[in-house]
Amino acid sequence: MNKENPKLERILEKQIKIFGKQLKIMRVILIFLASTLYALMMYMEGNSLFSLFFTFVFSSLFIISIILMKKKIMYFGKYNLECSSAGDVYLTILQGICPNCKGFLKIAKKDGIKIIQCQEDKTHIWNLEK
Ligand SMILES: [Zn+2]
Repeated sequence: MNKENPKLERILEKQIKIFGKQLKIMRVILIFLASTLYALMMYMEGNSLFSLFFTFVFSSLFIISIILMKKKIMYFGKYNLECSSAGDVYLTILQGICPNCKGFLKIAKKDGIKIIQCQEDKTHIWNLEK
């Protein structure tokens, strides 16, 4: 692996807005936490698998939003979710040019680790995680 990370540029940076308001990570975390607790209460009262399913979904989303706040960026294939230091949530696309062969760079997964990989030559790879 090469040492120096190539620079990835944001070719898309879209603020995520809900009802015209900028989405804040703390708000997302609190909403999912409240939803998890609510679904859990429903499950304890009614014992239905339906509310258990929602408990599971909301708690997963709660954990994902905590990870996003801590790591500041999450990769979902072509798109990324990013969280600014002010807590604003953005949808972004990162793109770069391979310093070795000028091919397009893409974020890929190898052995469970996220890497930056050149599309022209698959041996041109860099560590993504800092
Ligand atoms: Zn390359």
